[in-house]
Amino acid sequence: MFKTYDTIIIGAGIAGASTAYALKQKGQNVIVLDKRGIASGGSGAAGAFVSPKIGKGSLLQSLTNEAFEYAKEFYLSTCLELFHQTGVIRIPKDEVDAQKFSSYEPYNDNRYETYAKEQLKRLGINTEFDSFYFPEAGVCDAQEVCKYLLTNIEVVEYEVREIYQENELWCVGEYRAQNLVLATGYENDLADLRYMGIKGTWGTRGDFSSKLSLDVSMHQSISVGANVDGIIKLGATHEKGVKEVVPCKKEQALGLKEKASSLIDTSDLELKEVFCGMRSGSKDYFPLVGKVIDVPFMLEKYPAIMRGSKPEMKYIERLYVLNGLGGRGFVFAPLMAKILAESIIEGKEVDVRVDPDRLFLKWCRKSPELDALR
Ligand SMILES: Cc1cc2nc3c(=O)[nH]c(=O)nc-3n(C[C@H](O)[C@H](O)[C@H](O)COP(=O)(O)OP(=O)(O)OC[C@H]3O[C@@H](n4cnc5c(N)ncnc54)[C@H](O)[C@@H]3O)c2cc1C
Repeated sequence: MFKTYDTIIIGAGIAGASTAYALKQKGQNVIVLDKRGIASGGSGAAGAFVSPKIGKGSLLQSLTNEAFEYAKEFYLSTCLELFHQTGVIRIPKDEVDAQKFSSYEPYNDNRYETYAKEQLKRLGINTEFDSFYFPEAGVCDAQEVCKYLLTNIEVVEYEVREIYQENELWCVGEYRAQNLVLATGYENDLADLRYMGIKGTWGTRGDFSSKLSLDVSMHQSISVGANVDGIIKLGATHEKGVKEVVPCKKEQALGLKEKASSLIDTSDLELKEVFCGMRSGSKDYFPLVGKVIDVPFMLEKYPAIMRGSKPEMKYIERLYVLNGLGGRGFVFAPLMAKILAESIIEGKEVDVRVDPDRLFLKWCRKSPELDALR
């Protein structure tokens, strides 16, 4: 006997949970499958700071800042108690960085103020530089947010090894559905997604108990959370050498405390828990949202595509992806899930900035993975 749904989602991180939530809001019957349970991948490790991106107005910055506006409203209206709107201060790393901050100001799309270093000292923050304060930014309880979004949604602990279509339905074990969404983070062996260039970057965060009065969160080379219920979160490392899931290392978290000591008084910080996991980024650092191209078909039918021809795309019927959220999963996921749900249900075009199609033709022309076929 099969169990039938409108959509099966594989992956119960913030990408899968937000997609399930958005589809359910639109009336779909969805099931979420995850091999280790809710927020067991990168999402469970996230410090889950939700703040804007600063810089000189790149396309990625403006997309991030749009997503930030959406995310902050989303968390405030859906799970207010799990989003601590502490504000986030962006502090220059050094003199050179401080010089750049004034050129960033015209591109601060979101509400902000400049805090002078004296003002920061009064808040318990040591820095020699004036900084940006984003009052609407904050920090999520990462695992709790994922759990909340999946309330009243069927979630099954199940490792998917194979997906296939039969009679116009996707088949995953005993589950059947019209649509299938891959929200599997850095692991991507269920379909040919090579053109998306999904890569993992390992990271560690530490939660420290403390009595320090710290009402605001901050980011410099690491993020330091405000003291919420006696816990200060420090995150995160970027450990490029780690390619597969490994046990979390206490030393990495203690290294974060060492770094934080230049910003705040860390003398009473005691390590309570270490979290670690893989962020998954795309080749160009933009999210990946939408349909999946039928790669074997395209390469076989149109070999000239590897020399620059541009035939019409053929997609795998009703297979979708939401991935590539990088180090900002909790910023991007709500808006990206909305975009995906509108595409699945209403057939709305996906924003070209996040449509994975953008990466396909270049991959066909340039990827060494295809050298043997050229
Ligand atoms: C240390 C650290 C700190 C971070 N800090 C922040 C931050 O401050 N702010 C922020 O916004 N983001 C932060 N991030 C990034 C954020 O965590 C990621 O963007 C987010 O995890 C991406 O979510 P995801 O759902 O795409 O992937 P994941 O959370 O990795 O979820 C993928 C899920 O798919 C499941 N899965 C994979 N393959 C299968 C299969 N075959 N069958 C069944 N299940 C499968 C996995 O078990 C996993 O649970 C941080 C990440 C790390 C690691």
